[in-house]
Amino acid sequence: MLPAIFVSHGAPTHPLEDGPARRFLAGWGERLGRPRAIVVASAHWTTAEPAVSAATAPETIHDFHGFPEALYRMRYKAPGAPALAADIARRLEAAGIAATIDPERGLDHGAWVPLLLMYPAADVPVVSLSVQPARDPAHHVRLGAALAPLAASDVLVIGSGGATHDLRRFRGAKPDAAATRDVAEFADWLASRTEAGDVEALTDVWREGPGARQQHPTPEHLLPYFVALGAGGGRGRRVHASTSYGFLAMDAYEFGAPARVASAA
Ligand code: ZN
Repeated sequence: MLPAIFVSHGAPTHPLEDGPARRFLAGWGERLGRPRAIVVASAHWTTAEPAVSAATAPETIHDFHGFPEALYRMRYKAPGAPALAADIARRLEAAGIAATIDPERGLDHGAWVPLLLMYPAADVPVVSLSVQPARDPAHHVRLGAALAPLAASDVLVIGSGGATHDLRRFRGAKPDAAATRDVAEFADWLASRTEAGDVEALTDVWREGPGARQQHPTPEHLLPYFVALGAGGGRGRRVHASTSYGFLAMDAYEFGAPARVASAA
């Protein structure tokens, strides 16, 4: 069985800059193996109510400004999966969560940047799912829980956001700067509560997490973590920890089933 996973996608320049998180993602895709399909809840698709993308050939969305030209030439040409999108919408409705299907939506950089690094062949069909910044973490756990059965049919559920995301610190920051103490403190709290299965504290993150509002001035980059937490049954572990620019924790998590071992006979 596949785990549900949370990935910190970092700055849009992640595909261009070597570093520990980039190397981790390449190896992670190999270790998890090639799923039948992927559903990715992206911090960069925010809506009032959940939306599911159903384009047959989703376009690559370059939803950022002022970055190197090479980034704008990158395309991630994975096919869509309209039938899976419809299935997901039905599962959400059955869980009492109203959802809409968006037949046009492409893959924003929260979706395609980590997928490009994990599954560079772009041959696994992808559906994306929006997050709801006006709704609380518990809503996103329920969203993920409705998707939990998909792992049994070899669908990988990914939450793509950032373990910390205070972009006010971006100006003048160096890519290889060490984590500041407050960034590490929040990231380590998230890891310890995850490994303890303390869903109560986690869903109360805005009060319980040390400096949570400072690390996430807006909530959307942490909400995909809760989708993965819900999809993986509430218990998980941090499988990668590093920092980019000193303030972006690039931590990655697996929830639920341990990663399958490719060489198992
Ligand atoms: Zn982002």
